[in-house]
Amino acid sequence: MRQLLLLRRSLISVRFSSYSVSPQATISHDGPNPPTLAEHVDITIAGGGLVGSAMALAFASSPLFKSYKIVLLESQSKLPQVSKNKPYSNRVCALNAQSINLFETFDQEHPSENDSLACIVENDVIQSCLLERLKQFHIEPRLNSKVKNFEYEENSIRIKLQDEKINLRTGLLIAADGYQSSIREMARISTMQWDYNQYGIVATLQLADNMPDNIVAWQRFLPTGPIACLPLSNTHSSLVWTVPKSMHKTLMQLSDEQFVAEINKAFTSDVYKQSGTISITERIRSYWQKLIPGILKRNLCPF
Ligand SMILES: Cc1cc2nc3c(=O)[nH]c(=O)nc-3n(C[C@H](O)[C@H](O)[C@H](O)COP(=O)(O)OP(=O)(O)OC[C@H]3O[C@@H](n4cnc5c(N)ncnc54)[C@H](O)[C@@H]3O)c2cc1C
Repeated sequence: MRQLLLLRRSLISVRFSSYSVSPQATISHDGPNPPTLAEHVDITIAGGGLVGSAMALAFASSPLFKSYKIVLLESQSKLPQVSKNKPYSNRVCALNAQSINLFETFDQEHPSENDSLACIVENDVIQSCLLERLKQFHIEPRLNSKVKNFEYEENSIRIKLQDEKINLRTGLLIAADGYQSSIREMARISTMQWDYNQYGIVATLQLADNMPDNIVAWQRFLPTGPIACLPLSNTHSSLVWTVPKSMHKTLMQLSDEQFVAEINKAFTSDVYKQSGTISITERIRSYWQKLIPGILKRNLCPF
């Protein structure tokens, strides 16, 4: 069994949300008299995260919106700095072929030569590439620009920013301000959500051995929730382990060595599994082994 070293660990909660729009939205605003000075913008995107920056680039790179004035507002004062020398971040996305195709439409001069099923990329890297590309369309996110509130006018929306005296008047406001969107709340778009009573533990793992063939994503469906190990490089993988709330505390309190031992156990032993699942897994294994001899050896889980 190969050992892993733990580099970083953090916790996220697992929820499901769905949205519905109330037919008559009432918008809150600060006072009865809107400020007089307003910059006119065609499309305003609030939030320069993955969704907002991809949305801005989709508009900017489309010939249909060539003459439109597009503004990307970001409440934070800094953008993520990516560097090859920095350790891997433990927030990653699996980009499937459709997402890769979408990104290719943003930069048709440099088509991707990737024919993989999917790619695992750090969120910071995706975001900074999107923002870098946006610069070529002369769009830079306006930092420290938090949408405080907005109100509908006859043919536009007037946006008030937290720290600015000049407001925006826009034809379209896109709320890309994250999963706890305050703009969505102000627009009274109701949501339905429930708690799965689970947490996701995310971590960056360093493989003890250099593995040139670390190109397979592994996921094991345990009765307690799925555990996934996503390849980043020959030496690193990203971990997402979904566990019941009752279990997360124990795991988070373990030392790094103990936690790594639990990961190895969850991937390789039957401690976390049910007997029915084990027999099905065994049958699938022997089916593949008969079909393509050697496949299991070549694609062995790196633990
Ligand atoms: C472990 C893990 C794995 C995941 N894997 C995947 C995956 O494989 N594929 C996938 O698609 N998704 C995945 N996700 C989800 C994905 O990370 C999120 O859905 C995505 O980051 C959301 O992006 P966003 O732009 O909507 O929000 P955010 O990244 O939260 O960005 C919102 C931005 O808006 C700004 N903002 C907030 N309020 C305002 C305001 N009032 N005015 C202006 N700006 C504001 C914030 O500062 C922030 O920069 C994963 C998430 C986790 C935790």
